[in-house]
Amino acid sequence: MSPSSASLERVFELLLAVDPRADEQALIRRIAQLERLKSAAAAAQARAAAALDAARRSAEAAAGVPRPRRGRGVASEIALARRDSPARGNRHLGFAKALIHEMPHTLAALERGVLSEWRATLIVRESACLDVEDRRALDAELCGDPAGIDGMGDARLAAAAKAIAYRLDPHAVVDRAAKAEHERCVTIRPAPDTMTYLTALLPVATGISVYAALRRQADTTFDGRSRGQVMADALVECVTGRSAATAPPVAVNLVLSDATLLGGDETPADIAGYGPIPAEVARGLVAAAVGDRRSRATLRRLYAHPRSGALVALESRARLFPRGLATFIGLRDRRCRTPYCDAPIRHNDHAQPHANAGPTSAVNGIGLCERCNYVKEAAGWRVVAAVDQSGTHTAEFTSPTGERYSSSAPPRGPTITVSELEVRIGVALARHAA
Ligand SMILES: [Zn+2]
Repeated sequence: MSPSSASLERVFELLLAVDPRADEQALIRRIAQLERLKSAAAAAQARAAAALDAARRSAEAAAGVPRPRRGRGVASEIALARRDSPARGNRHLGFAKALIHEMPHTLAALERGVLSEWRATLIVRESACLDVEDRRALDAELCGDPAGIDGMGDARLAAAAKAIAYRLDPHAVVDRAAKAEHERCVTIRPAPDTMTYLTALLPVATGISVYAALRRQADTTFDGRSRGQVMADALVECVTGRSAATAPPVAVNLVLSDATLLGGDETPADIAGYGPIPAEVARGLVAAAVGDRRSRATLRRLYAHPRSGALVALESRARLFPRGLATFIGLRDRRCRTPYCDAPIRHNDHAQPHANAGPTSAVNGIGLCERCNYVKEAAGWRVVAAVDQSGTHTAEFTSPTGERYSSSAPPRGPTITVSELEVRIGVALARHAA
């Protein structure tokens, strides 16, 4: 039975009250109590998540949904309710099911506040390669007596879980390592001061050999650059085939206002797949592209709503053929439009499905990542896209339980408009590029 929202508010008030004039000992005790409350809340969330998953699956079974398609989208619903990304929703649900169905001692330790949600997640993660029976054994051995784990640091706790897993089933741990190789990948994320972290996840032997090759380069180069600089430059040269000093000849979509491009205005520009960059840096990139014979720079005109700054259309002369429209939606949305998702766009999807007479238009089109596109196809999801009074593109997601969540296309700042000057610059850039 769920308490009414009014009585719940009252309970929250009592549970979360902090008296700033309380003495020091009382304050420390309050912090410990609240920490315990967070852990207990995480355990309760896990119970609710596992129950939701079970309820949905049995309802879908009764409705004749084939087994592989049952429960699709539940992780995304949990993510939305927790204001978290769908990828984390998946982890939350996996964590919940493992605790509820296979790891009662870890669940109890979480409930009593002996473990935090993160520390319980570490144990679940290290036991993920085991079969149910071994997992239960690990659970009992590590968390059967909570005194045993009290005081362990995160690293020690994960190592203890790993050691037990290895003893119970050495093959599973080795198989997991082999499976992890499939997850090798390269990712990029912004770093402070207009730098970026380019990260490669590699099998340990490969990663070490790449690092050793770069270090060898640093050991044999003496030209005033630091070791770190030599290694970074060598990496760029090996990958792009060009010296690190010149811009790599690959296409980047840079979105900036005419005012930013022509100087004066400091509204940041945006690189698709990266994020905002300072106006000064954007102007430098354009200047370098124009000045370098081997580079090409082309301008595409985008219309922004004068008040909200949201992109409302592509160049007016362009007909809305699918590729132009897809480009527009990608530049407008930048990231998957599911709230909290942030994953790169992989599909331009019809908010109102094409099969239900949803038009192929900028308004009805939304950018979604692979996972969210898949989830949206599941029964019970509905998305309504619109342009609101301020000119912002909005998408309202309704989940199978009727909860509503909405997202807006990111604003561009008020200065992105089409201008005569931009056209002339466009011609100049094209001439340089030719
Ligand atoms: Zn997504």
